[in-house]
Amino acid sequence: MVAVCDIPIPGKIKLAVKNDDVQKTIVDVNGVKIGGDRVIIMAGPCSVESREQVLEAAIVVKAGGAQILRGGAFKPRTLPYSFQGLGEEGLILLAEARKETGLPIVTEVMDADKVELVASYTDILQIGTRNMQNFPLLKEVGRSDKPVMLKRGMSATINEWLGCAEYILAEGNPNVIMCERGIRTFETITRNTVDISAAPILHAISHLPVIVDPSHGTGSRFLVPPMSKAAIAAGADGVMVEVHPHPEEALCDGAQSLSPEDFKAFIEDIKPIIAATNRRL
Ligand code: PEP
Ligand code: MN
Repeated sequence: MVAVCDIPIPGKIKLAVKNDDVQKTIVDVNGVKIGGDRVIIMAGPCSVESREQVLEAAIVVKAGGAQILRGGAFKPRTLPYSFQGLGEEGLILLAEARKETGLPIVTEVMDADKVELVASYTDILQIGTRNMQNFPLLKEVGRSDKPVMLKRGMSATINEWLGCAEYILAEGNPNVIMCERGIRTFETITRNTVDISAAPILHAISHLPVIVDPSHGTGSRFLVPPMSKAAIAAGADGVMVEVHPHPEEALCDGAQSLSPEDFKAFIEDIKPIIAATNRRL
């Protein structure tokens, strides 16, 4: 173990922690810089459901000030009976939404043998919480030339999460973004417990940018603005929030999705906090 700011980290983690070669990583996604002086808003639907739905969401989040469009085409669902995503059709629709709005996209890849396919459409490969320790998948995205957003496993410690970032970095991909999306605790009122401390802890020990996802972190729309403000105040490099044109009709995660009106109000709500941290949207 070595200690940074009194935080013990396994000495064998070499690349994901600050080191002689890298003190800070800024991930450049088609000109959108994650980890710099701008707070990044990734927004969009949980799942890509149709052309109309994803285009409308993309236009709304772009108008509101988001810099990156999110949307799942391959969905990791708790039950096999739930909507599993549109697959490649969803990727095609995301690419269309990017063309329409100019927003780079982030979408999840669940299988190592789909990395090439997903990478051929997306700008950022997302590794979901359930796959944080899928080591063959981590190695495969580590060989990709696309940035990777690595979500924290819902039961993972920060050191285990850093170990997974190490897998990607060790394969030669330097563009890793960490995403805190809530962890399992004894609390059941919220879907998960958002560990806001992950942002300053990672910033102290790692050079990688940190995004916080309060949508999956809380499971409730009304908690998305306050937890986003807390995350930004704690230094997170950005937030990822779910936005649906009609949350009540969403095929997945409607209860935590912001409506277009909610999203507009959300952006106004976070602006003073962004300014207070001497950063820009
Ligand atoms: C998602 O962001 O679409 C998602 C499934 O999140 P998580 O892996 O954090 O549950
Ligand atoms: Mn979701």
